[in-house]
Amino acid sequence: MNRPALRKYVNPQYLSDLPEGPCYDAGHLVTVNAGWRTRKPVLDSEACTGCYICYMNCPEGVIFKSDGKVDIDYDFCKGCGICGNGCPKDAIVMIREGEA
Ligand code: SF4
Ligand code: SF4
Repeated sequence: MNRPALRKYVNPQYLSDLPEGPCYDAGHLVTVNAGWRTRKPVLDSEACTGCYICYMNCPEGVIFKSDGKVDIDYDFCKGCGICGNGCPKDAIVMIREGEA
C-alpha cells in the first residue's frame, strides 16, 4: 500500500510554520480514526478513471495514488464524503459504517 508516512506533529509557533495551501500535506495526521465515523467511502475501481480529483479534494489527505487510480486509507478517513461529491464518474459512494 502506497500510504503516506506518519509525521511527528509539532504545533506551529510562527505563521511561516503553517502550510501555504488550504491544508497540510498528506500524512500529517498523527492518530487513527477513533471509531466515530458513521459513513465511509467505497471506491468502484472499475468506474474510476484516475483523474485524481478526489486525491486533491480530500481534506485529510488520506486518498493515495495506487496503480494509476486511487485508494483510501480508512485508518484516517473521517467520512466527510467530499471525495464522492466531487467524483465526475460517481466512482465513490458513501455507505453506513459496518455495511457490506
Ligand atoms: S475523482 Fe473519481 S474518477 Fe477521479 S480518481 Fe477519484 S474516484 Fe477515480
Ligand atoms: S470521506 Fe472525506 S476524509 Fe474520507 S477519503 Fe473521502 S474526502 Fe477523505
